[in-house]
Amino acid sequence: MNTQTILSEHRTDLPTTTEAAVLHGAGDIRIENKHLKALGPNDVLVEMRSGGICGSDMHYFAEGRNGSNVLRQPTILGHEGAGVVIAAGEKAHTAVGTAVVIEPAMPCRQCPACLSGHYNVCPTGTCFGSPPTDGLFARHVVVPDATLHPLPEAVPAEIGAAIEPLAVAVWAVERAQVQSGHRVLVTGAGPIGLLVAQVAAAQGASEIVVTDVNDDRLAVAARLGATRTINTSTEALDLKGMDRLIECSGNIRALVDGIHTLGPGARATVVGQARPTVDGIPLGYLQRYEIDLVTAFRYANAFPTAIGLASSGKVDLRSIITATYPLNDAAAALTAPVKDPRNLKVLISY
Ligand SMILES: [Zn+2]
Ligand SMILES: [Zn+2]
Repeated sequence: MNTQTILSEHRTDLPTTTEAAVLHGAGDIRIENKHLKALGPNDVLVEMRSGGICGSDMHYFAEGRNGSNVLRQPTILGHEGAGVVIAAGEKAHTAVGTAVVIEPAMPCRQCPACLSGHYNVCPTGTCFGSPPTDGLFARHVVVPDATLHPLPEAVPAEIGAAIEPLAVAVWAVERAQVQSGHRVLVTGAGPIGLLVAQVAAAQGASEIVVTDVNDDRLAVAARLGATRTINTSTEALDLKGMDRLIECSGNIRALVDGIHTLGPGARATVVGQARPTVDGIPLGYLQRYEIDLVTAFRYANAFPTAIGLASSGKVDLRSIITATYPLNDAAAALTAPVKDPRNLKVLISY
């Protein structure tokens, strides 16, 4: 037991309640005072510094659901978050004062998927901010120490929430098996697509083509190292023999057209949220050229790589952060990207 832990256990000034952004239903988010759960031996109390708005948060706010998961009880939103540890349970390893990013997944750690390291596909795992599990849009959270990753000085907690989408990008590029010299097509220049393009570049891709229907987003892609950008609403997708497609838009047209740019033995990776069933996937073409079609879901063991890429400057996190709103304006933060597509990653400050 270290000195800081002893100090934290005897502190009497630690909060027992916290302000949080609680979603009650579609369009109905309220700032409420919530009781913090008691600090268990393996838990830490984190004072939040940044939260990130994700597409899934926007779906929950707009529709009261995200895909098949429906909001059935008031839930604190948010799965992207970073802060500073202000108290630690007696068995927690993270010292008080450490800046951390929280990995939101809580897998069972016992099933075959978890034991094989693929905890992202644990059938019974839960995730902060995925109803009914409360999330990180609160001034303080009590979370298991095991969910924390320390942040180096180069990645301040004030932007640390953006590590979570970067972990998504790291995992996508890993699933895509991008190798040095590859020609990579990234469809969709939202936050994930822009991060994927940067991670693919760090992985040694020689050509990175980014497509979108928004010129402002494509301009950001070009600034961040895309070798070519194509606005598919006005230009033809005249590519051939690409090695990798990483689909980040969730648009079926982008996936089908992207597959047709791939050469023999290539690989297509679906990252953008897929619909339950999809017609029109060119299965015959995939088979004729033995093109692998794979999917990526969240991430497994990707946070350390993401933190390394951000702290070395190989990925520019700040370049995708376009707005920051205080917690009290959570509703405005949750609609900002819809109101103005130039918004990429929107953060919450506490
Ligand atoms: Zn996210
Ligand atoms: Zn499991």
